[in-house]
Amino acid sequence: MGDITEMIMEGILCDVCGGLAITENEQEPGHPQTCEDCEED
Ligand SMILES: [Zn+2]
Repeated sequence: MGDITEMIMEGILCDVCGGLAITENEQEPGHPQTCEDCEED
């Protein structure tokens, strides 16, 4: 797949909206995650 998919799988991009899911000071979590905007409980 493309770079976008890879960045989502690494947790860099949100797996819901595709926006940035980490700040520049954070490390790649290595797994898919959602950004603050999409995170709801
Ligand atoms: Zn999002």
